[in-house]
Amino acid sequence: MLVTVLGKTLELRHAFTISRGTKTKGESVFVNVKHEGLVGWGEASPNARYGETTATAMTALATMIDGLEERPAAFVHELSRVFGMVEGEYAAKAALDMALHDYLGKSLGAPLYRVWGLDPGRILPTSMTIAMADPEVMAARAREARDFHFLKIKLGGADDRAMIRAIRNVTDRPLRVDANEGWHDREAALREIEWLATQKVELVEQPMPAAQLEDVAWIKERSPLALIADESFTTTRSLLGLAEAYHGVNIKLQKCGGLLAAREAIAIARTMGLSVMLGCMLESSLGIAAACQLAPLADILDLDGNLLLSNDPFDGLTLRDGCVLPSDRPGLGVSPNQGIMQPEDEDEALFSQRRED
Ligand code: MG
Repeated sequence: MLVTVLGKTLELRHAFTISRGTKTKGESVFVNVKHEGLVGWGEASPNARYGETTATAMTALATMIDGLEERPAAFVHELSRVFGMVEGEYAAKAALDMALHDYLGKSLGAPLYRVWGLDPGRILPTSMTIAMADPEVMAARAREARDFHFLKIKLGGADDRAMIRAIRNVTDRPLRVDANEGWHDREAALREIEWLATQKVELVEQPMPAAQLEDVAWIKERSPLALIADESFTTTRSLLGLAEAYHGVNIKLQKCGGLLAAREAIAIARTMGLSVMLGCMLESSLGIAAACQLAPLADILDLDGNLLLSNDPFDGLTLRDGCVLPSDRPGLGVSPNQGIMQPEDEDEALFSQRRED
C-alpha cells in the first residue's frame, strides 16, 4: 500500500466573509491510497475554529498512516485504532476515512451509496451560500444564484437586516440564515430571529457561540424558527445535550471525522429527535462527493463548497435542478482533474509512505 499526501490551495470565486473573518482561498490536504491497482482519495479541510491547520493535519496524517496495516478494504477496526493515536484533528481523520471508503467502493465496483443501499433519488436541493458583503453585492450574488431553491445567508455583522432586505428585493426564494456564533446577547438574538421569521426565513444556524448553550436553549423556547447547531456539534459525543437548545444539527464530515462517524451521528441525532442537516466546509468536489453518498439520509442539504471554487481539483458531481448529485461511478465517484491535480507528480507530494507487501 502506498499512501501519498498532497497539499493544495483552493481558490475562491469571491472573497468569503462570515462573522469570524474573511477568506480568499482555502487549503485542503488530499490523501491518496494505492493498493493492488486501485486508488482511493480523501480530503481534509483543516479549520482554525477547531484548532486545526494544514501543518497539524499533516502531522496527524503521518502518525495515522504509519499505524495503518495492509488491509485497506477492511478498515473499520483499523480506523478506530489509528484514530485513537491522535487527539482531535477530525479533518485529517475525515480524509483518511474518505480515502478508504473510496477504495472500498472501487474494490466492489459500486458507488458507495449503492454499497449502503441508499437511493440517490432522495437527494434534496442544496442551499447556495451568500457570504457577508455590502448589501448590494449580496443582492447581486442572490440574483446569480437564482437556479438554487434555497439561499443560505451569512449574518452576524453590523447591519444584518440591511443584508436581508437587499436580498429580499431580488428573490422570494426561502432563506436559511447562519450567524456563525455572531450574536452574543440572547434577547437581541431573539428579536432578530422574530424579525427574520417575517422575511420568509426558514431556519437559523448557530445563532450564538457554542459556549452559550443555555442562552440558545432560552431562545429555543421562544423562537418562531428552527435552530440548527453547527459549531455546537463537533464529535458524536457533542450531540448529547444539544436537543435542549436546538431543533436540528449540521453534520459535516470534516467536523466529526468522516463517513463512519457521520452515519453514527445521523442515527443518534434521529434518536434524539433532531433534524439532520448535512453540510460542508470549503471543500473540493471530492469532499462534497463523500457527503453526497450520505445525502439521501438528510432533511436539509448545504453542500455547495465546491461551487464556490475557481480551481476545483476534482470532477464528477452534477448540479441538476438545484441538487448536487453523485455520479454512478464506483467509490466516491469523482476523479482528479489532471489540469490541477497531478497525483503522479512526486515533487508535489508532501510525503509518501510506502508500506509494501
Ligand atoms: Mg454554519
